[in-house]
Amino acid sequence: MKKVVKFGGSSLSGAEQFEKVREIILSDKDRRYVVPSAPGKRDKKDSKVTDLLYEAYGLASEDRDFSEVFKKIEDRYNGIISGLGLKISLDKEFNTIRENFLKKCGEDYAASRGEYLNGILLAEYLQYTFVDAAEVIFFNEDGTFDSTKTYKVLHDRLEGIERAVIPGFYGSYADGRIKTFSRGGSDITGSIVARSAKADVYENWTDVSGFFVADPRIITDPETIEMITYTELRELAYMGASVLHEDAIFPVRREGIPINIRNTNRPKDKGSWIVQSTGQKSKFTITGIAGKKGFCSVNIEKDKMNSEVGFGRRVLQAFEDNEISFEHMPSGIDTMTIIVHQDEFIEKEQSVVSELNRLTHPDSIDIESDLALIAVVGRGMKSSKGTSGRIFSALAHANVNVKMIDQGSSELNIIIGVKNEDFENAIRAIYNIFVLARL
Ligand code: ASP
Repeated sequence: MKKVVKFGGSSLSGAEQFEKVREIILSDKDRRYVVPSAPGKRDKKDSKVTDLLYEAYGLASEDRDFSEVFKKIEDRYNGIISGLGLKISLDKEFNTIRENFLKKCGEDYAASRGEYLNGILLAEYLQYTFVDAAEVIFFNEDGTFDSTKTYKVLHDRLEGIERAVIPGFYGSYADGRIKTFSRGGSDITGSIVARSAKADVYENWTDVSGFFVADPRIITDPETIEMITYTELRELAYMGASVLHEDAIFPVRREGIPINIRNTNRPKDKGSWIVQSTGQKSKFTITGIAGKKGFCSVNIEKDKMNSEVGFGRRVLQAFEDNEISFEHMPSGIDTMTIIVHQDEFIEKEQSVVSELNRLTHPDSIDIESDLALIAVVGRGMKSSKGTSGRIFSALAHANVNVKMIDQGSSELNIIIGVKNEDFENAIRAIYNIFVLARL
């Protein structure tokens, strides 16, 4: 067995957390390749090292004094070194970074140093080989990830190394310049390493014991999801559930490598498994609920719409010409509704309406704002009857007016539109019926 383990910023925020991480790694000899983030917050008031690096570089790029912020960064690492009793000094590295800041080496280089330095420390502490991500993770000139070169180089490199630490979040262009992924991108590095190493499992260690069935800010102590498929996760993540970087599933998904989300502070918890497919029934009919506020619906009515060839295309044309993407498009015989993001739509509203009038000559156009969308996701819905019935009776009991319903053809999700103000109530009602009442 071969496991790739990624530890997030809160798992490596200080010496005490490093000790927990070491124990986790050493307790399983299959945990051979380790991907660290930069030190995160130790408490609510603390700063993430990555944020400090952006701040320091922001000052440097305006030729302002960045020594105070830089000192905070040095202190974070020196605190870890002394807390763990390591016999290593990062002073040379700090000097190089400072000089490169003065030379205006770029924001990506600056931000990447958080992971780079943490990787050096973790490798020293574990006595694993340090592999600089700049030598094994590559980007194309247009900034996209160069998968072909990366998988080849990284695979060959790791074949010769039994145990290694590879810092997350960054790689390099062909000419050696540093480039980072988007924020939270160490999750992606972990996935890339797992694929290149042909790992059996990608463990992603963080500060929660997996995905929750629903947002803990709305539901107190929600249940954790034991197993979720990549596709279900995509649906939930799209609707706002976030634990893992959205792009982190792609490298491992192709190879069918499962991801196990684990909690560094509660290592005995089993966490959540993200898998390609599973015959295992989920504990509840639904796997998860997520949602977002801030949508608008544009309702277009026209008699005999159903027999007018090209009507739908012309409607969408009006949105496309205004560069607005749409989220959903439920339709009736003589009506069609387009759901869009309110903040994107609002400033172009009148231009869209006039183009709709010009292109489609509707009987009426009616716009409703302040809507929320809720996705109820679950592979189990396909084989169980009455799921939507239960959702809507729960919503009716909770006094929530349903504005829109859209069931995906995969029968994996049901999307429900409600008023923004009913959002939390609706989520509670759905959670209660499926999870608490287990119907
Ligand atoms: N340290 C980076 C960030 O804060 C990347 C990561 O932690 O995944 O976004």
